[in-house]
Amino acid sequence: SDSHFPVPISPSHVDYSLHYPQLLPLANRTDTFNKIEFADIGCGFGGLLISLATLFPETLMIGMELRDKVTEYVKERILGLRVASPGQYQNASVVRTNSMKYIPNYFEKGQLLKMFFLFPDPHFKEKNHRRRVISPHLLDEYAYVLQVGGIIYTITDVEELGAWMKSCLQSHPMFEPLSEMELEADPVVKLLSSATEEGQKVARNGGQTFQAVFRRITPSS
Ligand code: SAM
Repeated sequence: SDSHFPVPISPSHVDYSLHYPQLLPLANRTDTFNKIEFADIGCGFGGLLISLATLFPETLMIGMELRDKVTEYVKERILGLRVASPGQYQNASVVRTNSMKYIPNYFEKGQLLKMFFLFPDPHFKEKNHRRRVISPHLLDEYAYVLQVGGIIYTITDVEELGAWMKSCLQSHPMFEPLSEMELEADPVVKLLSSATEEGQKVARNGGQTFQAVFRRITPSS
């Protein structure tokens, strides 16, 4: 249960020295440049973080994962990469937490530039839809922690879930879809289907994927 892992009481209580020890002098500075800017929600085995860490070496990023053993695996994986490639992967870390409950404990208003929801669990039954990691209510929270212009990336191989995530985003006043041109120009979009373990499994099996990529906007009133 949740009582088995500590939860910071506010974003200022997140211990950056634990996550990014080599970047500590940077992280200790108070301007926003040094805060965590990417969050991979339900990061699984961490493939996306590993790819993003070298693509965005100046950006602090964190994976959030509910399963204890999987979190430990990602921790070890990152530590191993840090040892094998000195100076690299210092900007990536992982935390065991329930992202559906504790996002506001980790990030302050407007802190994040990117949030990732790659191949989330489907929760097929109607009564379980409220357990989905994209929902109208949770989008309010994601809009709060994303800065204006920040981007939310979602992908799934479950058609119904893809339609659900897209329709939640379309209905939300604080998100708008990226244009085709913007999608093509964004190097991160190419990683959605290829960087994670789940994505690779789907690709191996020749499965179709459904993505929705939306930008946080200021609602026009
Ligand atoms: N994103 C990864 C990928 O594409 O390979 C993992 C996909 S896996 C199907 C979904 C992951 O979300 C699982 O590792 C699961 O433990 C995690 N998860 C489910 N609910 C969660 C929650 N409330 N908070 C954090 N992680 C969660």
